[in-house]
Amino acid sequence: MKSLSGIPASSGIAIAKAFVFLDDDEPIIPRYSIGATELAAEWERFMVALERAREDIVALRDRALREMGEEHSAIFDAHLMMLEDIDLMENIEASLNDSLLNIEWVLHQYSMSVVKQLESLSDPHFQERSADVHDITHRILNHLMFRERFSLADLPDDVVLVAYNLLPSDMISMNRQRVKGIVMDAGGKTSHTAILARAFEIPAVLGLAGSVRSIRNGEMVVVNGQSGQVIIEPDTDTLVRYENVRASLLARNSDLAAFAKMPALTKDGQAVILKANIEVPEETESVLRHGAHGIGLFRSEFLFLQPGRAPSEEDQFSAYQRVLTAMEGKPVTIRTLDVGGDKVVPDMAMAAEKNPLLGWRAIRYCLSDTEMFQNQLRAILRASVYGDARIMFPMISGPDELDAALHALAKAKSDCRKLGQSFREDIPVGIMIEIPSAALIADLLAPKVDFFSIGTNDLIQYTIAVDRGNERVAYLHEPFHPAVLRLIQKVIADGHAAGISVSMCGEMASDPAAAVVLLGLGLDEYSMSAASVPLIKRVLGAVSLAEARSIAEAVMKMPSHSHIDTYLRGRLDSLEIQE
Ligand code: PEP
Ligand code: MG
Repeated sequence: MKSLSGIPASSGIAIAKAFVFLDDDEPIIPRYSIGATELAAEWERFMVALERAREDIVALRDRALREMGEEHSAIFDAHLMMLEDIDLMENIEASLNDSLLNIEWVLHQYSMSVVKQLESLSDPHFQERSADVHDITHRILNHLMFRERFSLADLPDDVVLVAYNLLPSDMISMNRQRVKGIVMDAGGKTSHTAILARAFEIPAVLGLAGSVRSIRNGEMVVVNGQSGQVIIEPDTDTLVRYENVRASLLARNSDLAAFAKMPALTKDGQAVILKANIEVPEETESVLRHGAHGIGLFRSEFLFLQPGRAPSEEDQFSAYQRVLTAMEGKPVTIRTLDVGGDKVVPDMAMAAEKNPLLGWRAIRYCLSDTEMFQNQLRAILRASVYGDARIMFPMISGPDELDAALHALAKAKSDCRKLGQSFREDIPVGIMIEIPSAALIADLLAPKVDFFSIGTNDLIQYTIAVDRGNERVAYLHEPFHPAVLRLIQKVIADGHAAGISVSMCGEMASDPAAAVVLLGLGLDEYSMSAASVPLIKRVLGAVSLAEARSIAEAVMKMPSHSHIDTYLRGRLDSLEIQE
């Protein structure tokens, strides 16, 4: 039995045999000399293989478009563009003529040099690009050598997929019923694989950084998407233990599924609003299945995190329209691009910064890239007629910045009017409260907007000065720190004094104990991962408003988060609230 540790990127437990999908499966590339008279025929062979690869990619693109929408099919458009790259053709032709070696070898050498160059760059965008070059080269080589690449659509059994890095085409074409878990060397929480694994509800541990090589085909693997642990060839006790954990997670989820259909009410019948956070449009099915009242946070930056070109206004319009239509009139809050910091976006010249979390990110970036921001605002406005859309600006730090964002929105509206594009004139506009300066002047910001949404992931990070992505200081990222609770209390009070609703879309909203305290503090709406909605519905259904208020009142007088934790555990037990 061996154990590896990576980044928990998609929750759940998977137990299945490993299907090792590594490039050790690489073809052996033949290398032989050709005569000058054979050059034309060799080039012709290349052209035929290229055309077949093009047909494959067009078929994959059409399938992605049918099943997942334009923002995913764009990856294949980027592949097609690469195939048509004139420089690439000229370089390959020149090396063929110079070397007088067979075209497989020439192509392979050329693509290896491009991959090496891209991988030596620290920007993760280029690393993703190298996966694309690899993908395309293999496709052409397979046609040149009449060799079919194994397709993940043909998996014969249930498996845990083990890979260095899954290519975009693998994720799209794989048989999702068969893939029970994913384990990968590459990738973090915002990688394409992580986003799709969550959207498909497949447990995944990524970022194993070189250790997947130790997993062999057919070995039994446990993927713990909760903790990031991967256990290889578990002994009987461990296997039984994980089977029990998996069974109890499944049982808990199916018990909770009943709550998805029930109204969200406190014990004394007060209605609560529970919405979902999404990253990709495909998640709307899960949002509806888990009984959320709408989407409280659509992290639009994930549309920009796909490899290939940045989404155009039309790409975005179709993604927003798709989400709004799928939600059938339920509210959908689209947050404008929140890039930078820990989220690096392909095709955006975001310089490597010394202090990215305090740097050129989110609304700061948007206000400096007017064209991109206007494209996004127009796309949201145009989509707004397809449902109940709302706009939310991230990382607002003060009134002037908010005024600038509102000014940009007014310009986008005026341009839509000039172009005769219809949109909802009174589309609600809100801001994330996730920087302490904004929380401290919530009273000044509230009159300018229709709602607040508290982003505790960042609010805690900036209040306690603790990098939310650094595991060494993770113990300090504490929602029950009295400073954080006081800021939340103030934001809710200031929002209410101005007559606007206050929501929370940070992870804290899906913590059962926190949900009770927030109810007591008067929070109007919660937004969380779709799968957490039934649990929080059950938790809030076990407490009355008066009980929640008295709990919140007690908590606000306590001197530290450890006191609060202990107290809440006791109170939740006494109310028989199971987490
Ligand atoms: C937050 O900061 O709490 C939030 C919801 O935004 P994100 O996690 O996308 O930064
Ligand atoms: Mg945030």
